[in-house]
Amino acid sequence: HLQVNHVYQWMQITNDKIQKNKETLTSLDQAIGDGDHGINMARGFQEVMNKLDTENYEHVADMLKDIAMTLMSKVGGAAGPLYGTAFLKMSTRLKEQDATYGNFSQAIIEAVNGVKQRGKAEIGEKTMVDVWSAVADQMSKENHFSADLIVNTAKEAMESTKEMMATKGRAAYLKERSVGHMDPGSVSSFYLFEALAEVIA
Ligand code: ADP
Ligand code: MG
Ligand code: MG
Repeated sequence: HLQVNHVYQWMQITNDKIQKNKETLTSLDQAIGDGDHGINMARGFQEVMNKLDTENYEHVADMLKDIAMTLMSKVGGAAGPLYGTAFLKMSTRLKEQDATYGNFSQAIIEAVNGVKQRGKAEIGEKTMVDVWSAVADQMSKENHFSADLIVNTAKEAMESTKEMMATKGRAAYLKERSVGHMDPGSVSSFYLFEALAEVIA
């Protein structure tokens, strides 16, 4: 099951990917939003690492809670509160429970439900919900961590947002013109799940 050092590595690898792909996230958000998603995420995940490096954690839930609080206060934009909600839900679900496969996949399901509720978004609206839901669905069908399945599922869901028309978030203002570009939040969510897969592989 997932332990504190795994979650630490998860955040470290996610942060590396986001710093490295900051420009990609920025260009995607320039195409269908306001161009700040790369900056928002890079700032937020760097702050997450700063926070994790100054604390000692015994329980995964405590670490997830600090990650949530940092993302909420430091990412900004629409994505900050949504990513924050996801991690807060995971923390709540894993309180006083080991992050076994079953509990963790349940935690991801609750994270998705939290994001949907907070953003009033459903699947197919060209948001990060598309990637999170696909991964949660896939995980609930397995009874063990499968790194390849997680990456493939997240990648396919991310790519599927390209042909969608946005009906939530800033990209929704563009209507048909939002078609043809991947959703920035889905791409950052892909990095997050790709990092998770690397930790559990
Ligand atoms: P902002 O749009 O405020 O500039 P960001 O650029 O950081 O914020 O994040 C944009 C991303 O947030 C989108 O690509 C999308 O994935 C996600 N997002 C925006 N609004 C919603 C929503 N209502 N529900 C779910 N996700 C959303
Ligand atoms: Mg933006
Ligand atoms: Mg913005």
